[in-house]
Amino acid sequence: MTLNGNIIVFIVVYIIYGTIWGVATNKILENKGYDENWFIWGFIFGIVAMLVALSKPDMYSSAIYDNELLNKGRRENILLDGGWECAFCHCLNKAYVTSCRCGKSKEESERLKKEPEL
Ligand SMILES: [Zn+2]
Repeated sequence: MTLNGNIIVFIVVYIIYGTIWGVATNKILENKGYDENWFIWGFIFGIVAMLVALSKPDMYSSAIYDNELLNKGRRENILLDGGWECAFCHCLNKAYVTSCRCGKSKEESERLKKEPEL
C-alpha cells in the first residue's frame, strides 16, 4: 500500500471512531438531561470526552433539589417519600440522598433542626 493509501485509511478509521465516540458521548448527555451538543468533543477526544460526560451530574435530579424550580406539590411529594429538607441551605433532598449538595449530611441537618441555637 502506498503512503497516501495509508493516510486515507487512517483518516477513514479516525472518522468512524470519532463518530462512534461523538454519538455515544452525546447520547450519555442526552440521557442526563443536557441539551448541549457534545458530538464534536466526543469526536476529537474520544473516551476522554465520554468519561467527562459520564462524570457530569444528572440534570434532572439536580433540578429537583433546586428550590426555585420546586412547586409546593413536588416538595410535599418528596417529603412524603421520606425526603428531608436541609437545615443549612433549605434544599430538598430525596430519601436516598445522605448528604446535601451544600456538603452537609442528613445527620448534621437533623441536629441543627433539634438545636437551632447552635
Ligand atoms: Zn444543604
